Amino acid sequence: MCKVMSDEELGKLFRIITQHYEKYLQKYGVKPINLKDSNGNYTKDALVLLYLARGYPNTKAVSKAELTDFVRQFYPDVIDVQQARHLSKQKGYNIVSGTRGDISYKIPAGHYKLLDLENPYPAFKPDRREGIESNDFEELKKTYNYKCATCGSMEGKPHNIRSNELTKLQKGHMNPAKPLEFGNIIPQCQVCNRADRDRWIYDKTGRVIEIADSDDGRRVVEKYLKRVGRETKEYFLKFMQKILWK
Ligand SMILES: [Zn+2]
Repeated sequence: MCKVMSDEELGKLFRIITQHYEKYLQKYGVKPINLKDSNGNYTKDALVLLYLARGYPNTKAVSKAELTDFVRQFYPDVIDVQQARHLSKQKGYNIVSGTRGDISYKIPAGHYKLLDLENPYPAFKPDRREGIESNDFEELKKTYNYKCATCGSMEGKPHNIRSNELTKLQKGHMNPAKPLEFGNIIPQCQVCNRADRDRWIYDKTGRVIEIADSDDGRRVVEKYLKRVGRETKEYFLKFMQKILWK
């Protein structure tokens, strides 16, 4: 059987998808799709999205049977592709279906159509708890040379202080009062990203610059103000920085 699309065509079309993703979709929290898995095989998600994106921006409604036939050229065991549904509802791509009540688009029953690569699927709700995608976090870690912003321990290597532990970089809040999203994240190791960190606000270099406006932060202020008498919060902050970052 001859393939409907060559590797070259697939690669070219995927670059168009990626460009649109970065320009339009990423900011809505739409999830990125990998072209290939770690074994070098096309992912089913990519295949379905590519097939639906054929001729972009002049896309056509495609039947589920046609999609399944296409994916079977790569995965002969596939009986019924579910990817088109997942790509819209769970990953956010603007794919409408004739059997889902997206009736205003006049898609035949059992068909899917990629409307565009500039808007998210209307009913898509990004998972705000995730904040940033793991791909983005990989990029962020790279800019920090895979080191903890605060103590410099390197990912996968023995920790600078706890040398019997390997360093694992986590998404550390700079300001715990704000959401865990880009601009408010630094890579921190499991030690620096510890539970009591809700007390502090960090800068991009992982240093404490403020006491957080949180219950934890207030408790610290109360506790230490008792100790230092009637000193102001400002004085106290300098005092703490001196202790922490001498
Ligand atoms: Zn650290």
